[in-house]
Amino acid sequence: MTTPTTTVDLLSEVDQYSARNYLPLPIVLERGEGEWVWDVDGKRYLDCLAAYSALNQGHRHPAIIAAARKQLDRLTLTSRAFHNDQMGPFLREVCELAGYERALPMNTGAEAVETAIKAVRRWGYRVKGIPADRAEIIVCANNFHGRTTTIVSFSTEESYREDFGPLTPGFVVVPFGDIDALAGAITPNTAAFMVEPLQGEGGVIVAPKGYLAGAAELCREHNVLLVADEIQTGLGRTGKMFACEWEGVHPDVLVLGKALGGGVYPVSVMLADAPVMDMFAPGDHGSTFGGNPLGAAVGRAALKVLVDERLEKRAQELGSWFMDELRALGSPHVEEVRGQGLMIGVVIKQSSGTARPFCEALAHRGILCKETHEQVIRFAPPLTVAKEALEWALGEVREVLK
Ligand SMILES: *Cc1c(COP(=O)(O)O)cnc(C)c1O
Repeated sequence: MTTPTTTVDLLSEVDQYSARNYLPLPIVLERGEGEWVWDVDGKRYLDCLAAYSALNQGHRHPAIIAAARKQLDRLTLTSRAFHNDQMGPFLREVCELAGYERALPMNTGAEAVETAIKAVRRWGYRVKGIPADRAEIIVCANNFHGRTTTIVSFSTEESYREDFGPLTPGFVVVPFGDIDALAGAITPNTAAFMVEPLQGEGGVIVAPKGYLAGAAELCREHNVLLVADEIQTGLGRTGKMFACEWEGVHPDVLVLGKALGGGVYPVSVMLADAPVMDMFAPGDHGSTFGGNPLGAAVGRAALKVLVDERLEKRAQELGSWFMDELRALGSPHVEEVRGQGLMIGVVIKQSSGTARPFCEALAHRGILCKETHEQVIRFAPPLTVAKEALEWALGEVREVLK
């Protein structure tokens, strides 16, 4: 059979051959540039999902593509059995940007979260003196940290866990944003508290002011490591390079991914200072592709674009303006507009049904959004998005939400 080219044929092929683990909008994309993508029929869309913030720098940013091309012509993979000339500079640059002594490179976000879990557990036993196999990690209800069996073990989303057991023990769940609940959950066996500064997949939920700073204080008091999962909130998305900066917090462990790969290639890291990172000795942990020269070269370019173009500043300015405009629409269907920077959630009232039909209507008008949980439309375009593009989008959003 020849390769299909029409939307209908491409959709039916996927329907036949793909596992059913996603429910995408029925749009087949074939090209992207900046904040725009085109489907196989040539229809143009504004990308307001940006691959869950993996495309903060936009589609095919010229500097990132050039770096990838250059590296493709030199060296792509060595494994960690040997050194390569890109990994060291990449790790230095990400450490300097985030303010840590060491970085451990992985590929996907979930792998970097797993790496952090291993590091803090070991630290719990070897430094804090927690009895063997008793270490606890406190996490938040409604969290999203990835899809591995250990990570879904502490998800509060039933479908993420159901019949995937036996689940990994050692996690304690507290409500997000509730500092007293966190204080009450800390025991002598608590190794770490792991949190998203702003819950993205959980429905774009902003914690009460002072929550993160209070959590950092509690962690310090009780000799508990603070792990911030900034895979989605980091690298400019919320209007700061890292969302923790909004509260002046420097977590003990920082996990990055998504936009670290510049929309080109999966690149993630776990960052920490030596006392935590040096829990790993040769052979204790690893990844065949982690730190590979192609990923490292792409990661370097991805960071350089964020810094050179001050994308966190753009996110802040465009985000607060766009949020104000969305609120000013005064839509009868909207319960609340919330978010930080260009991570924005529009909450649809229960009485207006779910967010999905609104996303479908927006797609019809050339705006790609994806609902998160039942009621929330997430607006999270590339941070490079032109203001004119958002102005145009507002007009369409007004029509859909009226
Ligand atoms: C996307 C995401 C992950 C998982 O990253 P993958 O690359 O999909 O494994 C983990 N944590 C947060 C906060 C995320 O948004």
